[in-house]
Amino acid sequence: MKWRALAVGLLVGALGLTACGKEGAPGGGGSPVVNEPAASNVQVAGSATFERMKQRGQVIIGVKNDQPGLGQFDPTSNTYSGFDIEIARLVASQLGFSPDKIKYSVVQSAAREDAIARGDVDYYVGTYTINENRKQRVAFAGPYFVAGQGLLVREDETAVTGKESLKGKKVCSANGSTPLQRVQRQQLTEPNNIIGFQTYTQCVEQLRNKQVDAVTTDDAILKGYAAQSPEQLKLVGQPFSSEPYGIGLPHDDKALRDKVNDVLQQSFQDGTWQKIYDATLGKSGSPSGPPQLQRY
Ligand code: GLU
Repeated sequence: MKWRALAVGLLVGALGLTACGKEGAPGGGGSPVVNEPAASNVQVAGSATFERMKQRGQVIIGVKNDQPGLGQFDPTSNTYSGFDIEIARLVASQLGFSPDKIKYSVVQSAAREDAIARGDVDYYVGTYTINENRKQRVAFAGPYFVAGQGLLVREDETAVTGKESLKGKKVCSANGSTPLQRVQRQQLTEPNNIIGFQTYTQCVEQLRNKQVDAVTTDDAILKGYAAQSPEQLKLVGQPFSSEPYGIGLPHDDKALRDKVNDVLQQSFQDGTWQKIYDATLGKSGSPSGPPQLQRY
């Protein structure tokens, strides 16, 4: 009887925790923040990618599924939520695709250029930093947000206080990411102390299990993990890079890039961007406004 009571207690506790975690996590439920009918009779003259989507009757968007506040999948409700997801939906809607015509495809950091170049996804929205190296293989619309590289540590950590304190510490990041490359290039710790995984979730797991001392990536991502476990995890130091987020597109589809930039520009001006930010990232981050678009 006692055991049973304990088991029930544990179960209730676990459920409470789950509900709590969900409520506390930014992003909320699965319905779009911007819930307007999809645009009709959309034309994007000269865009092979747009033609492909139209033929298919569906848009395939590359996303992340484990970044709370940005791109997160909830298996219970079978929905995606977060700032990136809302931006992805807004673009889809302006291209004429309602939420039921969207197929999300999870693509990790190291696989993005390949997925876009192969045409596995029509476009990609997932904490994807615009840089010259990536521009060799894909195109970017945006930026639609600017993050900065940060550090996530265990709550009781005292030795890791910022970028300069990483020597001799084990630092985890995602393979193929700009933060991992920066730690290597700037030799912030020794090569054998730099640990790469496919996802940041794996890194956070390593941090909890004391296999690493810090997780490094964009502060926007780290804040989402910290908000889920404020008693266990915290961010330290000042952001030490600029990570302008772009929407990844096929390299030569200038017509679609221009169109997506128009959609972003419009959302910056009419308050839609702000509405999306406030309902998602803004909940665990600090107040922010839209960035300056960089058309090319
Ligand atoms: N924004 C950085 C990047 O694009 C880190 C986040 C990520 O891996 O998605 O590499």
